Amino acid sequence: MRDEMIFKIRAYRRAAREIEENPQKIADIQDLKKLQEIPGIGEGIANKIIEISETGTCEYYEQLKKTVPVDITTLNSIEGLGPKKIKRLYDELGIQTIQDLEKAIKRKKLQALDGFREKTEQNLLRGITSYKKHRDRFRLDEALGYAQDFVEKLRSHPTTLNVEIAGSLRRRKETIGDADILISSKDPQVSMEFFTSLEEVSRILGKGKTKSTIEFDNSFQADLRVIDAKSWGAALQYFTGDKAHNIKVRKIALDKGLKLNEYGLFNKTGKSIAGKTEKEIYQKLGMQTPPAEIRRDTGEIEAALENKLPNLIEQQHIRGDLQMHTTMSDGINSAEEMAKKGAELGYEYIAITEHNTEGLEVAGGVSAKDIPDYIKQLKSSKAQKLSCKILAGLEVNIGKDGTLTVPDKYLEMLDFVLVAIHSHFRMSKNEMTKRILKAFDNPYVHAFAHPTGRLLLRRDPYEFDFETVCKKAKEKNILLELNALPERLDLDGESAKLAKEFGCKFCIGTDSHSTTQLENMKYGVYMARRGWLEKENVINTLSLKELENHLRQKK
Ligand SMILES: [Zn+2]
Repeated sequence: MRDEMIFKIRAYRRAAREIEENPQKIADIQDLKKLQEIPGIGEGIANKIIEISETGTCEYYEQLKKTVPVDITTLNSIEGLGPKKIKRLYDELGIQTIQDLEKAIKRKKLQALDGFREKTEQNLLRGITSYKKHRDRFRLDEALGYAQDFVEKLRSHPTTLNVEIAGSLRRRKETIGDADILISSKDPQVSMEFFTSLEEVSRILGKGKTKSTIEFDNSFQADLRVIDAKSWGAALQYFTGDKAHNIKVRKIALDKGLKLNEYGLFNKTGKSIAGKTEKEIYQKLGMQTPPAEIRRDTGEIEAALENKLPNLIEQQHIRGDLQMHTTMSDGINSAEEMAKKGAELGYEYIAITEHNTEGLEVAGGVSAKDIPDYIKQLKSSKAQKLSCKILAGLEVNIGKDGTLTVPDKYLEMLDFVLVAIHSHFRMSKNEMTKRILKAFDNPYVHAFAHPTGRLLLRRDPYEFDFETVCKKAKEKNILLELNALPERLDLDGESAKLAKEFGCKFCIGTDSHSTTQLENMKYGVYMARRGWLEKENVINTLSLKELENHLRQKK
């Protein structure tokens, strides 16, 4: 916004990233020297960190905000707007807020600017609608982080008997409106008092004997309900399944002459016959207990009645991670560091999957002709000594016409070839489908990365015929990725379930840009579970040897 030197901007970005990745809470490091031991943090930034820790803000930032009276944070979360465009809109049209932007679009003022067209206006309008639709929702990782913090604090309180997250968060939905937390307590009043006085709470929206609602600074809300221990399972059942699931389960109870509600399962005389655990309730109804992630009435009830629930994949089945980036592009750790972390996580292998630079304007990557060197580097004797093996992979761009931006003779050298759409998102459904199918015809392709291209709460998927693509993936033996990056979670559960029905196989990759992000694997596993996937459906549950055999078959 202020035409500052690019190196200065980069220095702040790097520092922000390092702070984000630092395992220690940054506010706890109040020592100038210690702060400077963190890579990317010099004396200037270290001083500002201390100032922010102490006062909540810093002078420099407050000054900057005054010189640029633009709501950058909000404008920047609108798809199609980045800092450069925001600056021009401010300089040339005085746009400071989302309301200003809407007005200017309605009056067709943007079209008059150089480089803006009617189409740009339409795209931005779509971006604004999407932003408004999403602004009260939170990504799964954020919501789970907040709620789990709460739950841990409640758990450690002496009056607490039991505490659990319920609702869509327990079902691990990709985005969450608010959190439902259930508690049983020796002293409900004390629990409520404790909950509403936690330090994170910025507003108390409701406070009663059995239910309270609180809000954080960032507008995230959580409900706490006090449950009688003898109704614990009934309440957990009631507040976990989605509406359709619950209606159907209650009907099954009715058909058996029973009544199911949040207090228990009751017979005709009104006597409780189950309620302490979910399992005993489902058992009395003659069914297995469906895992929370699939309680959405998409077949789990019928399966549970026939004792045919799938054996859902678990985190412990994962033996490697199949997508990540390193310092060779915009990651902050080297391949070796990633492999060391992989070993810590108990993995047998990781695939480094840098971007190729052709046809993509992102931060670096590998150009086609450098692929032999890239592979040599990844397979260096030093790297091969690590217990977690490095596979040489590449995330190859699918060109506008469906051809790959790396020639076959280079693709052939790689262990693992992912293809992905990173540009030209707005095509007709038909054209986009053809583009993907054409890419699948390349004999060296192993997997299709982040298949729908969506960014949660930010960018909708591009349009294509999912079923046709699934059929082709099955035919050509191409894996569909479950991208575990919390901003993506792509495929989601519903799509994965559909693809499984078409006979597709899957790989889960964290798309990590640092060692810490390798821990995001759990989110990919949640999506896999929501999609009814079992161990056999996911390729990175294989041992290294089995995986190599599978990948080689392709060649
Ligand atoms: Zn990608």
